Amino acid sequence: MTHDTLPRAIAIDGPAASGKSVLAERLADALGYFYLDTGLMYRAVTNEALARGISIDDERAVTDLAESVEINVTPANHNTKHCVVTLDKRDVSRELHRPEVDRNVSAVSAYAGVRNAMTTQQRRIAERGNVILAGRDIGTVVLPNAECKIFLTASVDARATRRMQDRLARGQQVTFEQMRQEILKRDEFDSSRSVAPLRAADDAVILDNSALTIEETVARVMQILQAHTQGTTS
Ligand code: C5P
Repeated sequence: MTHDTLPRAIAIDGPAASGKSVLAERLADALGYFYLDTGLMYRAVTNEALARGISIDDERAVTDLAESVEINVTPANHNTKHCVVTLDKRDVSRELHRPEVDRNVSAVSAYAGVRNAMTTQQRRIAERGNVILAGRDIGTVVLPNAECKIFLTASVDARATRRMQDRLARGQQVTFEQMRQEILKRDEFDSSRSVAPLRAADDAVILDNSALTIEETVARVMQILQAHTQGTTS
């Protein structure tokens, strides 16, 4: 595969804990692409609203906040090992996976004004080309013309197990059942909202990775990209 035939933008969507971030990170590394995890932007707005004592139910106040802050996401590199997220230049990276943010992020991301503000920032970043954007609505709303779209999914149990291992590794005491309930709730919330609900774009390739390792998932997507580049050159 050469850069001439690779897609300018790769959209990866899917439900919570389906493995989008790891997949996107590995692909970005292999292809030399810029990776943007759009969930981190919604988390940053949620975190800031909580920090400022803004009520999450106050749509106007949360939207004003989203419209007034500048969020930057710098992908992981060999030094930082994780994405660095700044909100108005303050590094908030370590605050974004707190349970309180998890519980409130779906409500914040259901507000149309918040989505507009984030979508504008995401499209601006994508204009540079050679990008991978991961989220819920990349293939359907943010980049409907992305040349390659993957919808990554997995069973609720597989995702709850992954999320639990993730949390335990971060030192949080959680159970499988708690993670299962949290994921079910977030799936329901993200899929049923009226603005930009979670769904696969009509032209997305749907990949269920319940029984696949990360390496196998990456290999499948590389095959999809290969097929895509052959399609564009033949
Ligand atoms: O991907 P992650 O779990 O970090 O996303 C957190 C939340 O942000 C999701 O549950 C969803 O409510 C919201 N989100 C969204 N649109 C995106 C990315 C994330 O609504 N493109």
